[in-house]
Amino acid sequence: MTGERTAGKPAPDDLYERLKAFEGRTAVQGGEGRDPVNEPMIRHWCEAMGDTNPAYPDIAPPTMLQAWTMGGLAGHPAGSTRTRAYDELFALLDDAGCTSIVATDCEQEYPRPLRPGDRVRFDAVIESVSPRKNTALGSGHFVTTRMDIHVGDELVGTHRFRVLTYAPAHRNPKPKPKAHPEPVAEAARPRPVVNRDNAGFWEGVAEHRLLLQRCTDCGTLRFPWLPGCGRCGSPEWETAEASGRGTVFSHVVMHHPPFPAFDPPYAVGLIELAEGVRMVSGITGVPYDKVRIGMPVELEFLRVDDAKGTMELPVFRATAEEAV
Ligand SMILES: [Zn+2]
Repeated sequence: MTGERTAGKPAPDDLYERLKAFEGRTAVQGGEGRDPVNEPMIRHWCEAMGDTNPAYPDIAPPTMLQAWTMGGLAGHPAGSTRTRAYDELFALLDDAGCTSIVATDCEQEYPRPLRPGDRVRFDAVIESVSPRKNTALGSGHFVTTRMDIHVGDELVGTHRFRVLTYAPAHRNPKPKPKAHPEPVAEAARPRPVVNRDNAGFWEGVAEHRLLLQRCTDCGTLRFPWLPGCGRCGSPEWETAEASGRGTVFSHVVMHHPPFPAFDPPYAVGLIELAEGVRMVSGITGVPYDKVRIGMPVELEFLRVDDAKGTMELPVFRATAEEAV
């Protein structure tokens, strides 16, 4: 049970002081890449990703960084290089009720490209532990570790990895019987994560426009919004407004697991826009079991009023004869 003090358990502030003391301590020491950077792994990666950049495999795609540090399913042949400090930190969090963990984000830097033949070694440090935070998942601490990857004495990459360790919030508490029944407030729909990479898309939605990105170097349209062009790598782009016409390219019907604010079964479509890009979207105006591949759909904006307020989302309405 969280929020209650029991004998022997540190008070929350004491706990934070104890967690904080782990900052700067080593989490992984003396790690060695299982394989040297090599052309076959680069080729497989590029094929899986559809990355045809001609710079590869003379250099490795920078985002392959972890391919060279992870041990694979069998682990590193020399055994784990994780330190006791790292295990002690997570044992402390576990004892404090933070028994769940979720990876939240990662940041990488690539000081120089890796080339076939490079042999990487790596160390990691516990960079920071946040004060207690309340999140939708529950209350807990963000832990950031930073891995430094070297070839010889040269730093070739850093990998910052952040997790949230938390005490799960109680879900679906049993409703208490009420003497005078009241209308039950509908569960709030999840909100989109708006960041600097996709803010323009949501500004478009606010004006009832569906905005795509178009690379101003090679003209390729893209969706979802990303900082760079998947075809030529250019960071330069402009917006292009979609016509709103499309067809169902593929779809699934959600039965399980149930999510608050959603009423299964319902259809989720992969919509191919007339402009050629695809987006995942709700499908309206047709029963879930009447959605068909190739069905024409048209953009509309769904207004959601719930406990968190009002929000609008782009969805696609079936325009075929199955529509109701
Ligand atoms: Zn481009």
